[in-house]
Amino acid sequence: MSFKMFDVENIRSDFPILNKKVNGKKLVYFDNAATSQTPTQVIDVISNYYLNYNSNIHRGVHFLSQQATELYEGAREKLKNHFNAKLNSEIIFTSGTTHGINIVSSGYSEILSEKDELIVSELEHHSNIVPWQILCEKTGSKLRVLPMNDIGELELDKFDQLLNENTKLVFVNHVSNALGTINPISEIISKAHKYGAKVLIDGAQASAHFKIDLQNLDVDYYVTSAHKLCGPTGVGMLYGKKELLEMLPPYQGGGEMIDQVTFEKTTYADLPHKFEAGTPNIAGCIAFGAAIDYINSIGLDNINSYENHLLQYATEKLNSIENVKIYGESDNKTSVISFNVKGIHPYDIGSILDKMGIAVRTGQHCAQPIMDFFKITGTLRISFAFYNTEKEIDFLIDTLKKAIKILS
Ligand SMILES: *Cc1c(COP(=O)(O)O)cnc(C)c1O
Repeated sequence: MSFKMFDVENIRSDFPILNKKVNGKKLVYFDNAATSQTPTQVIDVISNYYLNYNSNIHRGVHFLSQQATELYEGAREKLKNHFNAKLNSEIIFTSGTTHGINIVSSGYSEILSEKDELIVSELEHHSNIVPWQILCEKTGSKLRVLPMNDIGELELDKFDQLLNENTKLVFVNHVSNALGTINPISEIISKAHKYGAKVLIDGAQASAHFKIDLQNLDVDYYVTSAHKLCGPTGVGMLYGKKELLEMLPPYQGGGEMIDQVTFEKTTYADLPHKFEAGTPNIAGCIAFGAAIDYINSIGLDNINSYENHLLQYATEKLNSIENVKIYGESDNKTSVISFNVKGIHPYDIGSILDKMGIAVRTGQHCAQPIMDFFKITGTLRISFAFYNTEKEIDFLIDTLKKAIKILS
């Protein structure tokens, strides 16, 4: 299979960090599911902001403030168009996926009661488990778990048994960060809606790999982080249907989120500002918009098919090594491979790979229930982005074989 249309060398030149040496070796960055690298086009937007526009938004009559506000609101519009939300005001800037989930979960502490039930999947990142456990402790609501099977897919038939008239919320990730499984969220959303339950989708692993159409999905809340799709850290998006965001109480009080403040009573600003208390990461939000532009200039379809090619290429090579076991073998997955080598601790292999300049993740990947399911303490995880190459995978495989020899 060749990708003549996909000029990976040209794309790599947008990412200066990929030329870096680590431990004297050329960096091979295979930890994209933890955070992706940032292209010059996005870095330039951040420095341009501080060089030319730095000022606070929505407040000043002066020139700089108006420019900054225009760029900030322009980024919101980009996100609205890219994810196909209906309204700009349904896009809330956050500090990331974790923040977005906490805005929703803490809001429901004033809405839910003891008889209510929530459903979480077994395939979640801790940030889509713990905030809901805190909510259940406050409200007395019950948390029920949608289980997964041996190849790391959710057992949808069990979902029907968990749903009932008391189910108020369902939360599932679009793609598992630990295994790469793409979950059938369309079916989950439509099944949940039959019972009147609302659905929050954690899209942190999805938005970098394929197109997401919020209106078509009919999803109630969708959260993601900029740093997983070539944007800066500490910036993210919470999407919510207008009527649902209007129903939720504000998460934080402060400047920017108010309409009138007196000591007798304060009224809140309209969406989206009601959830954006304080001065946000203005440059970061503008850069989030630039990251979306960058991704679209390459094309998510091109990215998706090239990454799938890398996934197949690496999976075949790994499977040909004795004693390697891959966890998460769904046909429907993104370019994430979690694996172990029998008898060797993943950390020991990870350290040798690091000495050779190869960045991988080892451990639980913030998803301890998945590790418990497989009765393991952790895995090695390699995760590809569109700037990775077959050659890098070949180098990984060679180095891995050497590491296994040393450690066996
Ligand atoms: C990275 C990730 C998160 C957390 O994102 P933050 O940017 O750290 O808030 C949550 N869920 C999934 C599936 C992730 O991959």
